[in-house]
Amino acid sequence: MPGYTPITTDTLHKIEEAVGSGHVILEEEKLIEYGKDSGEISCKPELVVETTSSEQIERLLRLANIHRFPVTPRGLGTGLAGGSIPMYGGVLLSMARMNRIISIEEDNMIATVEPGVLNLDIKEAVRKKGLFYPPDPASLDTSSIGGNAATNAGGPSCVKYGTTRDYILGIEAVLPSGKKIKAGVNTRKGVVGYDLLRLIVGSEGTLGVITKLTLKLIPHPPAVTTMVAFFPELTSAMKAVTTVLMRGHIPCAIEFMDRKCITLVKDLLPFEEMDTAGTFLLIETDGNPDIIERDIEMMGHICLECGAMNVIMAPDSVKRARMWEARREVSLRIENSFPLYIPEDVVLPLGKIADFVACLPECERAYGMKIFSFGHAGDGNIHLNITAEDRKSRERVEAGIKYLLKRVIKMGGTISGEHGIGITKRCYLPLELSAESIRMQKEIKGIFDPSFILNPGKIF
Ligand SMILES: Cc1cc2nc3c(=O)[nH]c(=O)nc-3n(C[C@H](O)[C@H](O)[C@H](O)COP(=O)(O)OP(=O)(O)OC[C@H]3O[C@@H](n4cnc5c(N)ncnc54)[C@H](O)[C@@H]3O)c2cc1C
Repeated sequence: MPGYTPITTDTLHKIEEAVGSGHVILEEEKLIEYGKDSGEISCKPELVVETTSSEQIERLLRLANIHRFPVTPRGLGTGLAGGSIPMYGGVLLSMARMNRIISIEEDNMIATVEPGVLNLDIKEAVRKKGLFYPPDPASLDTSSIGGNAATNAGGPSCVKYGTTRDYILGIEAVLPSGKKIKAGVNTRKGVVGYDLLRLIVGSEGTLGVITKLTLKLIPHPPAVTTMVAFFPELTSAMKAVTTVLMRGHIPCAIEFMDRKCITLVKDLLPFEEMDTAGTFLLIETDGNPDIIERDIEMMGHICLECGAMNVIMAPDSVKRARMWEARREVSLRIENSFPLYIPEDVVLPLGKIADFVACLPECERAYGMKIFSFGHAGDGNIHLNITAEDRKSRERVEAGIKYLLKRVIKMGGTISGEHGIGITKRCYLPLELSAESIRMQKEIKGIFDPSFILNPGKIF
């Protein structure tokens, strides 16, 4: 990593000239706040630029190359892997004020937005026009679309609709050189040249600053219905998941929680079966009302056939809302209950989830940790919330995590389905990627950013 030059008074003046002094923050308290995301690591930037235009970013990045200071893009700081932490100081580039929905084109079924818009605001704005933007990370009311794109965020609806990447047709981005490019298209298809769009989306702010996005929209499904199935243990629940999918049903969410999680959020779960269930599946399906009613009934039968203790069809809207509240609340409760909390988000082939989860108790005993698992059963994405009673046991717990991640890879899975690598998972990258793959990826970074000024120290 090349050395960086601290920002001098002279450089500060040049930055203020480039972006306007009203966009620069130097107050100590604010710098500390901007140096955090939703994970554990923090690092104070030398200054923050709150940008409102791509031209400011172009000028800032040109200065960064000349004066050798790092620039770290930040959306709304809900990341869990330290991706927006300015670990070498320099400028923290906040995208929060670039938050306009530029247009919603009903006929073309696209929306053009700035990167700082909340995911939920996009959903609500397009909903008013009968359209749907499906990606739904649990942080949808606190995270930005730019951050979602940079991390290729996913959520419960992935099982039917896919991830953020599947809904970005095109972007405008400022490259580390300060030059602006467009990648992708405004149309439903396009195959001209290498796919730089797919390279920049998911690159965690290391290849370019996303300044505009063209989103693909689809018609809003007319109705949604829900079912909750209670199982004595996870093996039969996972059997039900694969059977549901194999028989041609495509729910828009299949979420699960293990017994430990159920105990933690039991006050929010509105069913008496939660007292005894080892796990439950929350299944939703959306579409035409007649079809989804039949569909959910058939999925209920499959769950009973696979060993469900009970199935509750179409709970009322209050109960449904509470189930989702519990699902969203669970990670916060885990984090608040233990001094040491490390979230991992592995993905396994569907048929291997139950086998993998079965090995967790042995691992808990061996490494002195307690693991809470919940997640998106429909796409194999398990949130492993790893905890311990004592922060001093961190080294031992990290050895346990390494053991688990190796096991995931051996079973054909991947170490992160949503949160990305950032800083916190850099050390695990060689577990999954070959030396040659890492070398090529570093070379790609070098082509985009030969001076390593954009979000250095992330991923590799
Ligand atoms: C309670 C909670 C629940 C969560 N649930 C989910 C979930 O279900 N699914 C999921 O995928 N994630 C989830 N996350 C993680 C997080 O919300 C996502 O990673 C989200 O996409 C980050 O968006 P952000 O605006 O907060 O970005 P930040 O945290 O600010 O940044 C994240 C990364 O994106 C880069 N970045 C941000 N904006 C830009 C830009 N305009 N151009 C280039 N790079 C940029 C940053 O450099 C950084 O590397 C959750 C987090 C929390 C706290």
